[in-house]
Amino acid sequence: MTTPNTTEGTAAGKPGRVLVLNSGSSSVKYQLLDMSDRSRLAAGLVERIGEETSRLVHTPLTGDGGGPREREGRIADHDEALKAAAAELAADGLGLDSPELAAIGHRVVHGGLRFTEPTVITDDVLKEIERLVPVAPLHNPANITGIRTAMALRPDLPQVAVFDTAFHTTMPEHAARYAIDVETADAHRIRRYGFHGTSHAYVSRKAAALLGKEPQDVNVIVLHLGNGASASAVAGGRCVETSMGLTPLEGLVMGTRSGDIDPAVTFHLKRVAGMSADEIDVLLNKRSGLVGLCGDNDMREIRRRIDEGDERAALAFDIYVHRLKKYIGAYTAVLGRVDAVVFTAGVGENSAPVREAAIAGLEELGLAVDADLNAVRSAVPRLISPDYARVAVAVVPTDEELEIATQTFALVDN
Ligand code: AMP
Repeated sequence: MTTPNTTEGTAAGKPGRVLVLNSGSSSVKYQLLDMSDRSRLAAGLVERIGEETSRLVHTPLTGDGGGPREREGRIADHDEALKAAAAELAADGLGLDSPELAAIGHRVVHGGLRFTEPTVITDDVLKEIERLVPVAPLHNPANITGIRTAMALRPDLPQVAVFDTAFHTTMPEHAARYAIDVETADAHRIRRYGFHGTSHAYVSRKAAALLGKEPQDVNVIVLHLGNGASASAVAGGRCVETSMGLTPLEGLVMGTRSGDIDPAVTFHLKRVAGMSADEIDVLLNKRSGLVGLCGDNDMREIRRRIDEGDERAALAFDIYVHRLKKYIGAYTAVLGRVDAVVFTAGVGENSAPVREAAIAGLEELGLAVDADLNAVRSAVPRLISPDYARVAVAVVPTDEELEIATQTFALVDN
């Protein structure tokens, strides 16, 4: 079945709720959405699952539900976490046993090559997601736990997997393949999959709308700059290139990940520094990027330190921005014609200095930022380029939960 890959899809206006679950290894984030008007009814986070200091923060969003409610104390596993979240929802009159709940939508990080669209979860689908664990050892096991827990809680309800990789499955082979021995690559399913696809899909479509055009008529570069960060080149609504690869480690400088490095750094660390594969994995994923360069991964803190004259923070910022510029240039070449460069996620939506520095000096590519427009803080999609610029520069807030809910609802509502 084909799914309208759009928030403006056919499911709009019909009654029904969707619970969106994003299960990490020690956390579960959830949102309950009313699909009749796409409003949020409640949102919450359970973190430090399995530790003594677990914490649940539940926020009713219906207007009369009061402020956030917090609960501290051990939550042993995902089953307990989901039951605790369900109890909070029930206390707001939004229990998971409500007939209005139409489906549960799960964020699943890795869908390999098989899952190119949101998919109703069956035993067979779950087995395939398990088969992908070797290429997503950090993410898919947690997603699977979340799915199993939700299925046990509401076995009668459709559960839908929305994959982070799906939007990137349109990448041409010459962009997706690494230039390594083909047999070895294929035997181990080594290729570039890309991540953050739900965000890249949503933001590229919203950017087209901001330009007053249909997605198929525009070429955009999306810069998803959160704690994790990735760039994509989207031609006529289809992803043709993205910066993350086999894992989310490749590409841009991130909060704690190195992004691109010479792969020989890894064997050098093994041979010369005697580090194990697991130690190198932790170094590159958790102790690199901005945090490795200057000790902080929060862009607000880095900017504050730069304002105080901190040179390490300034160098970290410059390395971060330099990598961004390289990708903007490369993706301009990949696309041939660019209609918009679009910033999104925590840093992209909020950091005017990052946007200004990333676009500075790119006038030859038709890019410029208007300082006043760039300084505006707003939660709506907006242009920050001057009228004369050949290529639009935009800020488009991402909304992965809404996109997951919309794709989920479109699949089950018939
Ligand atoms: P995300 O992963 O999309 O939630 O983004 C989280 C990151 O966004 C944080 O680590 C910060 O670096 C960054 N961020 C959030 N708010 C701001 C802000 N007001 N100014 C600059 N950076 C921000």
